[in-house]
Amino acid sequence: MNSSARAVIIGGGVVGASVLYHLAKAGWKDVLLVEKSELTSGSTWHAAGGMHTFNGEANISRLQKYTIDLYREIESISGQSCGLHPNGGLMLAANQGELDSLKLICSRARYLGMETRMICLEEARQFNPLIDPQYFIGALWRADGGHCDPSGTTHAYVKAARTLGASVERFTRVTALQQRRDGSWDVITDKGRIHAQHVVNCAGLWAREIGHLVGLELPVLAMEHHYLLTEDIPELAGRAKEFVNTTDYSGEIYLRQERGGALIGTYEPNGIVWAPVKTPEDFSMQLLPDDFERLAPYFEVGFRHFPALGRVGIRKAINGPFTFAPDGNPLVGPVRGLPNFWVACAVMAGFSQGGGIGLVLSRWMTEGDPGQDILSMDVSRFGSFATPKYTSIKVPENYARRFRLAYPNEELPAARPVRRSPVYAQLLARGAVMGANFGLEHALWFAPPGIEPRETPTYRRSEAFDVVGQECRAVRARVGLYETTNYGKYEVTGRGARAWLDRVFASRIPRPGRLGLAPMLNPAGRVVGDLSIACLAEDRFLIVGSGFAEEFHLRWFESAEPPSEVFLRSAASTLAGFSIAGPRSRALLQKLVRIDLSNEAFRLFAAKECAAGFAPVILTRAGFTGELGYELWTTPDFAVSLYEDLCEAGQDLGLVHFGGRALSSLRLEKNYGSFNKDFRPDYTLGETGLDRFVDFSKGDFTGQAAALAEREVGPKRRFVVMQVQEGDADVVGFESLMKDGKAVGYVTSGAYGHCVDASLAAGYVPAALAKEGENLEIDILGEPRRATVRLQPLYDPQGMRLRA
Ligand SMILES: Cc1cc2nc3c(=O)[nH]c(=O)nc-3n(C[C@H](O)[C@H](O)[C@H](O)COP(=O)(O)OP(=O)(O)OC[C@H]3O[C@@H](n4cnc5c(N)ncnc54)[C@H](O)[C@@H]3O)c2cc1C
Repeated sequence: MNSSARAVIIGGGVVGASVLYHLAKAGWKDVLLVEKSELTSGSTWHAAGGMHTFNGEANISRLQKYTIDLYREIESISGQSCGLHPNGGLMLAANQGELDSLKLICSRARYLGMETRMICLEEARQFNPLIDPQYFIGALWRADGGHCDPSGTTHAYVKAARTLGASVERFTRVTALQQRRDGSWDVITDKGRIHAQHVVNCAGLWAREIGHLVGLELPVLAMEHHYLLTEDIPELAGRAKEFVNTTDYSGEIYLRQERGGALIGTYEPNGIVWAPVKTPEDFSMQLLPDDFERLAPYFEVGFRHFPALGRVGIRKAINGPFTFAPDGNPLVGPVRGLPNFWVACAVMAGFSQGGGIGLVLSRWMTEGDPGQDILSMDVSRFGSFATPKYTSIKVPENYARRFRLAYPNEELPAARPVRRSPVYAQLLARGAVMGANFGLEHALWFAPPGIEPRETPTYRRSEAFDVVGQECRAVRARVGLYETTNYGKYEVTGRGARAWLDRVFASRIPRPGRLGLAPMLNPAGRVVGDLSIACLAEDRFLIVGSGFAEEFHLRWFESAEPPSEVFLRSAASTLAGFSIAGPRSRALLQKLVRIDLSNEAFRLFAAKECAAGFAPVILTRAGFTGELGYELWTTPDFAVSLYEDLCEAGQDLGLVHFGGRALSSLRLEKNYGSFNKDFRPDYTLGETGLDRFVDFSKGDFTGQAAALAEREVGPKRRFVVMQVQEGDADVVGFESLMKDGKAVGYVTSGAYGHCVDASLAAGYVPAALAKEGENLEIDILGEPRRATVRLQPLYDPQGMRLRA
């Protein structure tokens, strides 16, 4: 065995094999995969091999397509068959919500370059004659996907990697990991020590245990999963083609042809967690005992919806474990605080996602950047809130919902509430309907007396629509209060703080008493953050950004190596906040503070530490609504007093509470983009339009060269807000933007603009189309709707109200 390697990959399942192949392909010849048993011996060998391209996130869909397309490449390099059955697939809808979701998939697929179409049930039966049409109302046909042979595919990756110079050590168990001072690792195995620059945890069912070797608690857990293989089905005899992979959402069933019979699997509610505390070390190439009694009711639904299945016997049952993260997406990337330690685990669809994961991780390791936005599978989307208890509740919820539709207005109930702000109970008493962001509860909207604080999951407008409209109008006419505790907050202090921030951020760092909008770029000039920086003193700064990105941004800041005299600290749990916005916000706040809030004395983007009622606060004049507004930050012990003071001061001014939904509407009326939705590491500075906040004349900052190069030629595409032709639904996200029948971009976010009476969609279009009044088209739930580019915000285009 080699005693050193540039990278050691732990685990020879399909994911480790893909990472090995991609690192070798990227030019790292000296890479070694260690596998404690035989290749595929974890969850890989018994997978059903199904592969598909759809995911709620466009970028993950794209990586899934990459994965499936890659199989021909590794087959040809390795000479090993992946056992491909590229038959495409069918998705069946049994109710209006499911039909809407399929139409949304069709709209999204156009820009992703995937062939899909809605088809009638008669046509669906040509692809799968076992369907009983009485249980369904519509279907989607997709040309991509099918199934592959799990073992053949894994071996094809490994053989191809070996051809490129990579090595594999089977029957070699990693028992310890020790980091050296220089950041490299000693990988201790039962066959000896390997010195590695990098270590990648691809240990699948044992990813949690490998995490423990370095003191890391990864939010990953295995669930048992059953599928059945039937005897030959007479209805299939003599057919020229196999019936295709079929997903029955309402039945929570998937099936495909396997020789002359079928393979049918179910994601049942009340699934069983496997090895909740520790994965047995000696589990290898094993299955779990069947549990037909428990599963019979769920498979019976399948036998009803596809009656021929119920008329034949069961040839074989498979029950095997595989892993999930709390939200069902993989955990990929570098781990904060553990230099050169990478993860690629919790992959529940290894045959759809393994290739894409290998691609982005290999780029990240060899080039320092994944090359595209992968926030939704970045390990940093979980922070310390994702404890083993949280994971043990969330993973079964996710498993049970594997085939349930994720409605855009739906908040999942398991493991809630976990993190509560100091005014959580007060907001609930006001009718708050809560969502969870990075584990923290925050208000989405407030149900007034007489309205139930809940809504029906839908792709269309819900019961909350009118209430949110009232919140928006009240903010614009009077004053509203929004709790901002769920934002990401960081304190940067020390003598070298300004110089360090100047390097990290692309914007001018504000002077004491001022706040600045602060884009942050990666070396490729793509946007990795859109934050604000308040300078409280020459050596003291408060940075505010997206709450969900807290761990992501902390990892980013730490990788920018603050010098020893700079102190960086997350203020996630040490600052609570409120935003008050609207034309009466000054009058409200002036009742609580002694400083002069007049426009001359406390201008837009002013920042000051002062007292507001009982509470010491950091006060800034800023906000995200486009109205005159202020943000107040205080420590959690003062948060309730501050909240009570704000409510009391607002009583005779008509103060309303507003939530995240209203904020989304208000910001789009002002053409403001939001990080995660509209601004992501996929987009360059020029494309987002955030270049207006950049100081190109200051010294070096990360991404400067790329941003300057882009400025020379101009961005290829631009972020725009569009006014969408009236209908009964608004965009959800990732719908294709069409021009003359061609997909030219996609939607990043949308909402109804209640104060401008227009449905609004934001997205990126080719620069030539970013013209006032340019007409595009968006397919919204099957209806083509005109989308007109509005370069000027529909609300207060001159920004007078913000500066009032
Ligand atoms: C019944 C069933 C059906 C499925 N159907 C599908 C499907 O249709 N389509 C699909 O895409 N996915 C399917 N899956 C999921 C799929 O199996 C997983 O996504 C995939 O196998 C994950 O691969 P992995 O490489 O991450 O993990 P694993 O396959 O678990 O690989 C991890 C490897 O790490 C090794 N290892 C662990 N610890 C150590 C150590 N200390 N030292 C050295 N080596 C170590 C293990 O021996 C193991 O080989 C199914 C799963 C099951 C159970």
